[in-house]
Amino acid sequence: MNFSIDDLPVRDELRGKSPYGAPQLDVPVRLNTNENPYPLPEALVERITERVREAARDLNRYPDRDAVELRTKLAEYLTETTGHAVDVRSVWAANGSNEVIQQLLQAFGGPGRTAIGFEPSYSMHSLIARGTGTGWISGPRHDDFTIDVPAAERAVAEHRPDVVFITTPNNPTGNAVPAETVLALYEAAQAAKPSMVVVDEAYVEFSHGASLLPLLEGRPHLVVSRTMSKAFGAAGLRLGYLAAHPAVVDAVQLVRLPYHLSAVTQATALAALEHTGTLLKYVEQLKAERDRLVAELRAIGYEVTESDANFVQFGRFADAHATWQKILDRGVLVRDNGVPGWLRVTAGTPAENDAFLDAVRELKKEQE
Ligand code: PMP
Repeated sequence: MNFSIDDLPVRDELRGKSPYGAPQLDVPVRLNTNENPYPLPEALVERITERVREAARDLNRYPDRDAVELRTKLAEYLTETTGHAVDVRSVWAANGSNEVIQQLLQAFGGPGRTAIGFEPSYSMHSLIARGTGTGWISGPRHDDFTIDVPAAERAVAEHRPDVVFITTPNNPTGNAVPAETVLALYEAAQAAKPSMVVVDEAYVEFSHGASLLPLLEGRPHLVVSRTMSKAFGAAGLRLGYLAAHPAVVDAVQLVRLPYHLSAVTQATALAALEHTGTLLKYVEQLKAERDRLVAELRAIGYEVTESDANFVQFGRFADAHATWQKILDRGVLVRDNGVPGWLRVTAGTPAENDAFLDAVRELKKEQE
């Protein structure tokens, strides 16, 4: 029978749409999804095995629904790394920060409500908005990819969105958003509604600057979302979290599925948090490699957007997709995020970065 998704009664807003799909291709050098290239250290793999073995003995029972031990350790990590005291009641965890964002939109967005983001930015914000029935508004940026603050303030005042997303460092462009910009948009959002402002800090550990977490003080409509996928090198773990006023945690608990974080996930994340010191040393190496990529790409003659993340946006290309293919033909997978003229490369190991730099150096020569 010739039957496809188009024959199913899917919701109107999903018709003809494509799922999130960074290509997962089997090529020698994969620098396309902002993963950490370093496998977890063997001592941590051992610790995960121990913790998971213990958890396995209780798998006949549901896990701790409120993940209190894990949230306590995440709060300690945030306190230690930002100098801003964070309490367990201010932290919430879910399966990746994508799920955190989904829970936030389920609680504060939804049918009849809207969210705004300043694009290009992380495409899942708008996709999760769509999935939760939240209307999406695309806010402006300058040509250099910084947020156009007066225009953004006007957009917030005009549309009165229920949720404002600010990604810093931004993905796919890499640039960090200054605290003053976040504060200006927070004020605009409070004057307009008041609405929730979600600062997506998925890449903040790679930043030259500091986390915006201290801004939470006295701002109950502000949320900072984080992930263990990047700095902790644990994309496969699926662990994201947020810090906010405890009232926000109460709100997301209304929409989370019961026992959403498996006992295996909680045990693994706890083991990883015991090894924070070692994992953050890899972050330092990646920051140095990121800075090297920026410098070398510029030396080769490419334009590069300032990066505070573990990836670099470079260009410009008359046909970014054709260039993406040419780099792939040389065995290196980078990302075409659909930003006209630009591509994005994730900082890998020094050898992977060398392979990438060789490929784009060759391309530049060809074009001359
Ligand atoms: N926010 C941003 C800005 C991202 O780039 C990503 C992953 N690419 C995420 C959130 C989601 O990460 P995860 O669900 O793995 O925590």
